[in-house]
Amino acid sequence: MISILDLEKSSRMMRAVVWDRQLRFLSNYPVPGVQPGWARIRVKTAGICRTDLELTKGYLGFSGVLGHEFIGTVESCEDIRWIGKRVAGEINVACGHCSWCLKGQGRHCPGRTTLGIDRLDGCMADYCILPVSNLIEIPAGISDDRAVFIEPLSAACEILEQLSLNGSQRIVVLGDGRLGILCAWVLSTVVSDVTLIGHHPEKLALSAWNGINTTRDGKYYSGADVVVEATGSATGLAQAMTLCRPRGIIVLKSTIAVSAAVNLSPIVIHELTVLGSRCGRFHHGLTLMEEHPDMPLESLITNRFPIEGAPEAFHQAARNSAIKILLDL
Ligand SMILES: [Zn+2]
Ligand SMILES: [Zn+2]
Repeated sequence: MISILDLEKSSRMMRAVVWDRQLRFLSNYPVPGVQPGWARIRVKTAGICRTDLELTKGYLGFSGVLGHEFIGTVESCEDIRWIGKRVAGEINVACGHCSWCLKGQGRHCPGRTTLGIDRLDGCMADYCILPVSNLIEIPAGISDDRAVFIEPLSAACEILEQLSLNGSQRIVVLGDGRLGILCAWVLSTVVSDVTLIGHHPEKLALSAWNGINTTRDGKYYSGADVVVEATGSATGLAQAMTLCRPRGIIVLKSTIAVSAAVNLSPIVIHELTVLGSRCGRFHHGLTLMEEHPDMPLESLITNRFPIEGAPEAFHQAARNSAIKILLDL
């Protein structure tokens, strides 16, 4: 079926941050066309995340427009009720008809594409496209600068979906980057004993919220019921194994381009469970944002650049002191 929207594939050009074995800002990238069931979103702000930095090191062999964290306004869509709505969008686009999709597990669809990560142009551009079913409307009470955290916050919330926490566990989060801090914040909403172990005093100071313990020296810590590995470093798993009690759980949050030789025998000896954890559902992230208006998300914004400054923004995002760098369209 060919729709008017499909024929609309325009020759309009837009600004975009493109990775194709080098990072480039382009001002003449074609505006994406809209298929039935999809929406074109005018991007307002996009976030640079560690995954973007990994992609620029060759992770997944991606080429195209980068970016999967955004807030924007629906510009074009068959269902006119969406037009003008302020939205964020879930990043996995499932095929809709395989056995995983039919089970409602589209996030594991083997044929899925992923916004700005896998075969689908991302959001560091004037426009991006996503299926309407991926969109979530952002309530008026939540500012753009909070809402832009919905993707990583939801990824942190995924741990709550995967583990049944009763509030009595001792939890350690390894890594004081953005994802580690968000995981600690999210976990602290259900568990009182949460310790964040990091390297950077200024990041640990920022992460103090809701009674979280922070420390730069995890050496003497052991016996955690749950260790969340969010270091983004190849050595994180080895450290997590030393912190976890026998029969405890290690949650792996880092996607890392490098792979290290890791001695996995502690997993066998101590009968540890290792749990991989990826993206989460945006309605969980949004609910948490609404329930905790004092969660200092905006304080994680290190700097912001106009889209034209993307190369410098990526450079800064790669520095250890950066937490969240935003690109404004
Ligand atoms: Zn991300
Ligand atoms: Zn599928």
